Amino acid sequence: MTALFDLTGRVALVTGSSRGIGTALARGLADAGATIVLHGRDAQRAEATRKEFADVYGEDRVHAVAFDVTDPEAAAAGIEEAEAKAGPLRILVNNAGIQYRVPLLELDPADWERVIRTDLTSAFLVGREAARGMVERGAGKIINICSVQTDLARPSIGAYTAAKGGLRNLTRAMTAEWAGSGLQINGIAPGYIHTEMTQNLVDDPEFNSWILGRTPANRWGSVEDIAGPVVWLASDASNFVNGQTIFVDGGMTVVV
Ligand code: NAP
Repeated sequence: MTALFDLTGRVALVTGSSRGIGTALARGLADAGATIVLHGRDAQRAEATRKEFADVYGEDRVHAVAFDVTDPEAAAAGIEEAEAKAGPLRILVNNAGIQYRVPLLELDPADWERVIRTDLTSAFLVGREAARGMVERGAGKIINICSVQTDLARPSIGAYTAAKGGLRNLTRAMTAEWAGSGLQINGIAPGYIHTEMTQNLVDDPEFNSWILGRTPANRWGSVEDIAGPVVWLASDASNFVNGQTIFVDGGMTVVV
């Protein structure tokens, strides 16, 4: 690990890291030396992941908190708890998110609201609570996990597409207000990633061949593909990268 990418002694909170992509991102940051705060809504699941991490990285480098990222008071209390347990936050990855597939003509406004709150409003709520301390200390990295749907639409995921598009502009808005205080806020937009959640799509021959044909790299992404770029954006190696959204998608969004 060269010094530019070394995260030793830096505290990182990854929302939604009790499972899925968030767990892999937290592992990447821990491998680069960071002290990790794992997070989910379900406290038991977050604690189970914490125990797995503690076996590898040691008890003193791994903590866990549980709170609902859509609740303003819970977000404020959650950041306070994370900092009480692990120390001042240097890195925040806004990763918690949900998908919901229903065509717009049939979409219940309550479900629209739920997706927007979980995939967009959460980054504002958790991001600003973390930023309060970062701005005061004059250093911090916020990484918002976007999607290829930040740029491209598909039928039946309208709320998700609107939320992920908004997340790119929230990344820019945070940059406009906080970059001058020594923070770097950027987005990572993963392409189609092979996870438990997408296993049914991988197993669907028609969808799978559409993905392979539509992706210049001719494969699904892996969770490890996302971890490297996140480590870069969390480290001093990206100190003059501000307000960008980096697409990690095997080239999907640069071809038609
Ligand atoms: P996942 O496996 O469903 O995990 C979601 C995580 O978010 C869990 O830890 C969950 O905690 C947490 N979470 C959800 N709602 C929450 C809430 N209201 N409050 C607190 N925590 C909450 O999801 P994933 O597939 O890893 O996706 C992670 C991120 O990557 C999302 O932002 C997603 O949009 C993005 N992404 C995924 C893909 C893909 O191919 N999978 C592609 C592009 C982008 P609990 O278990 O406790 O509920």
